[in-house]
Amino acid sequence: MKQGSGLVKIRGWCYRQRSSNKFIFIVLRDSTDIIQCVVSKDKVNEKTWKDADKVRIEFSLEIEGTIKEDKRAPTGYEIDVSKLHIVAPSETFPITKDKSTEFLLDVRHLWLRSRQMTDIMKVRSAVLEACNEFFKKEGYYETAPPIITGSSCEGGSTQFEIKYFDEKAYLSQSAQLYLEALIFSLEKVWALTPSFRAEPSRTQRHLAEYWHCEMEAAWMGFEGLQKFEEEMISFICQYAAKNAGGQLSALGRKPADLKKVKPPFPRLSYDEALKELAKKGHKVKWGEDLRTEEERLLTEKLTKPLIVTQYPKAIKAFYMKEDPKNAKLVLCNDVLAPEGFGEIIGGSERETDNAKLIKRLKEAGESTKDYQWYLDLRKYGSVPHSGFGLGIERVVRWLCKLESIRDAIPFPRTIARKYP
Ligand code: ATP
Ligand code: MG
Repeated sequence: MKQGSGLVKIRGWCYRQRSSNKFIFIVLRDSTDIIQCVVSKDKVNEKTWKDADKVRIEFSLEIEGTIKEDKRAPTGYEIDVSKLHIVAPSETFPITKDKSTEFLLDVRHLWLRSRQMTDIMKVRSAVLEACNEFFKKEGYYETAPPIITGSSCEGGSTQFEIKYFDEKAYLSQSAQLYLEALIFSLEKVWALTPSFRAEPSRTQRHLAEYWHCEMEAAWMGFEGLQKFEEEMISFICQYAAKNAGGQLSALGRKPADLKKVKPPFPRLSYDEALKELAKKGHKVKWGEDLRTEEERLLTEKLTKPLIVTQYPKAIKAFYMKEDPKNAKLVLCNDVLAPEGFGEIIGGSERETDNAKLIKRLKEAGESTKDYQWYLDLRKYGSVPHSGFGLGIERVVRWLCKLESIRDAIPFPRTIARKYP
């Protein structure tokens, strides 16, 4: 929608319509915004007046008229209509005020037209753009790892198995192992792919299909990894504040607060995190993972993300490097969004010792046969390297202050839903 003063021609959908004897007010919606269009009986021909009177919510329209500033109009401008063309009528739109969350999910294909969903999708687009720009700026190559895989990455329990000709295969849970192979030629790589996890429980932060932004870098150590994560999250926040500030404000997130998300972020080791939790009267047994509740307690009062490092080896993936100072720990980190939104990044330095990798694969009940190609990577000029995975919807949920992660993606997939 081009705004200024003078003659304009716009296309869009009727957002609301109200008529009186002399005027018909049509609020028109397009991808940019909404604008009020006024049809005056004494200024248009009879056909235009009659057509305008037929217009209802979601009719698609072409309108010509004169635009002028009007402080009383919903978005500060108004169009004085001279011509109106109905492109297509609309049946009575099923979405009215006070519909249940479930109903809105059933008609998600239509609910996407709401201003709220439109704002969220624009923030999401800004987040994706930011990831692209950041990796480009840092000299990373974008790559294309496979979605169909023969082996697991994050553990078998949440894998989607598929029929693959006469064999079984799995939908990717992470591109990491493949990105590790690519660093031996490209050194710094990233990929944005869908990841699939058969998450059995209904939570506000798990989808069965989500967009996973992953990076891997040769020569990068554990400290370098954390610096990179801080820089990237800060970049995304600055970018979203700058390019989707209006949408964020409408969703209740102050862009100025996001601009303050700059390195360094607070850090705690897993051990320190347990002490913090104990101080809050919340005991966690050493060796147990931090759940949503614990992550919330650690971050509810923070304004920047918190980095929790060095979790117990036994609860983490086989490829995470053993902490040289304590063999019970691994050099991993989870980045937790502030205000209790929970984990947005999981990363680690990678184990390069094949004997240790094989031992841990066996402990996890995995067949090393499936991982021969991965173990090869350590045989031919192995290098220290690190990487992480960031969940796009987790970040969007945090930035847009969404109750559920389902609203961070157009068509959410969960255990309870694959329609529409
Ligand atoms: P969680 O403990 O929350 O289940 P995870 O430890 O399984 O997360 P990773 O395997 O480290 O997560 O995956 C990397 C990132 O992918 C996470 O930090 C998160 O941002 C995102 N992620 C993981 N599982 C999901 C999911 N089911 N839905 C949406 N995003 C996810
Ligand atoms: Mg998980």
